[in-house]
Amino acid sequence: MTHPLPSYLDAQHLGPWGIYLQQVDRVTPFLGSLSRWVETLKRPKRALIVDVPIELDNGTMAHFEGYRVQHNTSRGPGKGGVRFHQDVTLSEVMALSAWMSVKNAAVNLPFGGAKGGIRVDPKTLSRGELERLTRRYTSEIGIVIGPTKDIPAPDVNTNEQIMAWMMDTYSMNEGATASGVVTGKPLALGGSLGRREATGRGVFTVGQEAARHIGLDLKGARIAVQGFGNVGGIAGKLFAQAGSRVVAVQDHGGSIYRESGLDVPALLAHVAEHGCVRGFAGAEVITDPTFWSVPCDILIPAALEQQITPENAPQIQARLVIEGANGPTTPQADDILRERGVLVVPDVLANAGGVTVSYFEWVQDFSSFFWGEDEINERLVRIMREAFAAVWHTAEQHGVSLRTATFIIACTRILQARELRGLYP
Ligand code: GLU
Repeated sequence: MTHPLPSYLDAQHLGPWGIYLQQVDRVTPFLGSLSRWVETLKRPKRALIVDVPIELDNGTMAHFEGYRVQHNTSRGPGKGGVRFHQDVTLSEVMALSAWMSVKNAAVNLPFGGAKGGIRVDPKTLSRGELERLTRRYTSEIGIVIGPTKDIPAPDVNTNEQIMAWMMDTYSMNEGATASGVVTGKPLALGGSLGRREATGRGVFTVGQEAARHIGLDLKGARIAVQGFGNVGGIAGKLFAQAGSRVVAVQDHGGSIYRESGLDVPALLAHVAEHGCVRGFAGAEVITDPTFWSVPCDILIPAALEQQITPENAPQIQARLVIEGANGPTTPQADDILRERGVLVVPDVLANAGGVTVSYFEWVQDFSSFFWGEDEINERLVRIMREAFAAVWHTAEQHGVSLRTATFIIACTRILQARELRGLYP
């Protein structure tokens, strides 16, 4: 009897899910007897596609496609953000949910992995339309989320206000306030101090560790950042405070460069006002392809997937790449960087700071007892440093990249839990 493969098991499938499958193939030889469970990593546990109809301000109806994928729940409830973007697809959300499973296990949070998204350009919606979209989406995925089932959070184009609407909608449907159903909420609604900066702070912390290991002094180090939002903007600010020079920034508005270092606080203010780096005084405009070859020591991709490709990887000047985004480097580009001696700190480790403070938020909501910011940042830094040290050690032990090392640690934890729980029924 032949068993036809589900379409999503085709590793040649282009796009993020295909990249994830290749990453799993690379880790499989290191999983020992647990490799008999590896198929479980190649299939999302549950994927929900929902229709999200809303009434637009002009009185017409619009329908959007929404998703929530729970990749794995062996180690705890699903956890991962919700992305609003016009290019979101089911296969992309599947990959993002799988990377959440790996990320959460890599820093040893008691969560599985999940992710959601709506195929929409939120910039085209009014505030009222955005609220109706968020509330209807939350109602539709209400059958699978919950404080002990699956906990959404912000991701690309979603923020504290959207989390507040999600929390309220879920709570109204339940008939009781359930603050632990989402993280990344406003402080006034059970959000956590330090959550907004957490991903950028985590990127900076692993950057410090990696720089130390390769003998790179952060003082005066030149940094190039792609994406200057919640991840790239905060990371850029922290590196600048540590004495590094942010020399190049690229976002959807274009690419800018200043050899002596951009004025990061001024650039953050400009982006907050105008939505992108375009029009920033005090920098020269460069073409988007040129961004990849600017002279720099550290490159931080902090935007979307598949940005570092076999085409631009040979031009990258940096010694260190820290992945603030999820899935920014294709496997072929990964190999090119490794051959060229460029150290890549992978997404599933580098950007785990956000979900780590999401975990703190969830714990605080459960106990209704809130911690101070210093305590949160201290715990965050400790978790990131310990995870980095374990990954570095595993990479040396097996002679593999930091990505494969992170996958070895994380997939071992996930599959150990899988084996201990066993199959039911
Ligand atoms: N969206 C973030 C990520 O990709 C955070 C997820 C969370 O806090 O649950 O890691």
